Amino acid sequence: MMDEEVVETAHLSYYPFLAAATSYVEASGITLEDLISGAALERARVRGKERVREAIRAGAVRKPRVMSRGQAEIELLSYPFARILVSCINNAHLIRRFALAEAKSAYMALKEGSTFTGGDTDLLDEMALEFELHLELLGMPHEHAPVRIPFPEYLRYTANLRDKRWKLVNRALDKGQVNLRTNEFLRILQEAIHARIRKDLPLDVPPTVCESVRRYTNELETELEAWRKQLGEDEFETGIRMKDPSSFPPCIKAILSNLREGVNVPHTARFAVTSFLLNVGLTVDEIIELYRSSPDFDEERTRYQVVHISGEMGSTKYTAPSCSTMRTYGNCVDSDDVCEKIWHPLSYYKMRLKLKRKTERSKSASQKETEIDEGKTESEG
Ligand code: SF4
Repeated sequence: MMDEEVVETAHLSYYPFLAAATSYVEASGITLEDLISGAALERARVRGKERVREAIRAGAVRKPRVMSRGQAEIELLSYPFARILVSCINNAHLIRRFALAEAKSAYMALKEGSTFTGGDTDLLDEMALEFELHLELLGMPHEHAPVRIPFPEYLRYTANLRDKRWKLVNRALDKGQVNLRTNEFLRILQEAIHARIRKDLPLDVPPTVCESVRRYTNELETELEAWRKQLGEDEFETGIRMKDPSSFPPCIKAILSNLREGVNVPHTARFAVTSFLLNVGLTVDEIIELYRSSPDFDEERTRYQVVHISGEMGSTKYTAPSCSTMRTYGNCVDSDDVCEKIWHPLSYYKMRLKLKRKTERSKSASQKETEIDEGKTESEG
């Protein structure tokens, strides 16, 4: 049986983004120097590097079973060290992936800890308090147990959730409260956790500190490079799993490339690319990331505009402008042979996907024929 102090430290190590976890580390008297080079904290550094490696490879961070206070502290300290590593590498894609992996893992731990019958309602209350969510529990803890939160809080964290069920029009509203199941509330918590982790990354780490942790960052950079090769350039650069960016129309590719290079893109082009990407299934957050390199980037303003175009919060959902509108505003560039057969950038995308599938099918059919022919020749020989 673990004593209460161990249980508390283990709890903080599971949720190291909590304000209480930060206070615990501060109160421990461990300095930045101890963390980056103290011999006693080598295990925390190795585990910190592992956290980042797991985020790159698996998109999730393991939560090991904690059995002692020492182990809990290593786990807890590995989190700030991982943040230092991610900040020193300072790759936008890694930052996104790390924040998402940490948030997802916290979600899984929360799910395990709070939704089984007889589970821990204190955990839900604690998280709600931490993220200033006024949660009302309406039944015994269980993943389907009803809960509710005020609708402005619901809106704050669901803007990036793509599924129709998160739209306010599909939700029962009762005196300003939105009814949810416990597992849906946990999903909202994941969004809140992600926003917190993402918010201050990259940290402003002094170059001397980055130099001291070079041997860890070198390894992670190699890992990141291997992953870049595996994913392909487009997905890696944007950090977004677009369905098939190589099939996007030339006009959209040109705008995306300008955004990536930090070129100031006119409003009409921003509207075109945003509405196009929303239509092919990207989330509000993913699109905001694309604007991050713009010279005049203002996250709040961008979010407002993207949410507005997406039709969230009851406004009209806009479709991408047609080719003739694109031409009018000078946004039709590099048109090719497929452009001659369509009148809308979304039709271009669909046609390209169709052509690609057709080519792949005929390629695999001719490959099969060759294999059969070769088999025949061998048996005849
Ligand atoms: S013709 Fe249409 S799809 Fe092709 S580049 Fe111009 S706007 Fe884009």
